[in-house]
Amino acid sequence: MYPKARQTAPPILTDGLIIRTFNKVGEADRFITVLTRDRGVIRAAARGAQKFKSRSGSATQLLCFSRLRLIAGRDAYIVEDAKPLEVFFKLREDIVKTALAQYFCELAGALAPTEEPAEEHLRLLLNALHFLAEDKRPQTLLKAVVEWRLLTLAGYMPQVSGCEGCGKPDGDMLLSTVGGGLYCPACAPGGCLPLPKSAVEGLRRTVMGELSDCFQFSLPDPALHAFSEAAESFLKAQLQRSFRTLDFYHSLETGASLP
Ligand SMILES: [Zn+2]
Repeated sequence: MYPKARQTAPPILTDGLIIRTFNKVGEADRFITVLTRDRGVIRAAARGAQKFKSRSGSATQLLCFSRLRLIAGRDAYIVEDAKPLEVFFKLREDIVKTALAQYFCELAGALAPTEEPAEEHLRLLLNALHFLAEDKRPQTLLKAVVEWRLLTLAGYMPQVSGCEGCGKPDGDMLLSTVGGGLYCPACAPGGCLPLPKSAVEGLRRTVMGELSDCFQFSLPDPALHAFSEAAESFLKAQLQRSFRTLDFYHSLETGASLP
């Protein structure tokens, strides 16, 4: 199906990850939020997507990475065609993985730009979802890397070069989640979170390195825990909010009853 002749704007071809879906009861259309390569986070309507056997239906499901042909509508884009490129099937088999993936999506939806290219955000999420689906990295590491990296891309990069007080470059450090600086144990003000030496190195790699390096390290357990704690605390302190999907993920981790 091609644009009708009266439509002047050419269709937009881009790839995107479906990060949110909304189905209206009794309607065949599905409303989606997509993290696209070329236009960042956009909203779109997929007409007839809820109909049985609709091709655009499977390609506009949550967590599907799809090739999209879009037309700019008045309030949202209209999905003219959608073809699934990667459906992350293994994510859907495990509720904890699904919950963490949905948190990545909610976070990207809040932190990625709108109507600007978001190639790096998209690649980050696709990498993270791949590793999560395939159990190739610990969930704790994936979560922290996604948090640190999305925050950095959004302009909330912690200062990681050395101690804010004395300039000491290495060793065990502490992070001020509010101020965003690192401190050595001698200079640290109250309320900082500890980051062992290996976690500091991991943090530098995550916020300053190439995307391809971000997931290519491991941390021993106490350092991994500190790296992860610091990421979430820093996120909440900087953004001054939590996320519904994050709370849900934690409720599964602790084995609380499902909502
Ligand atoms: Zn110092």
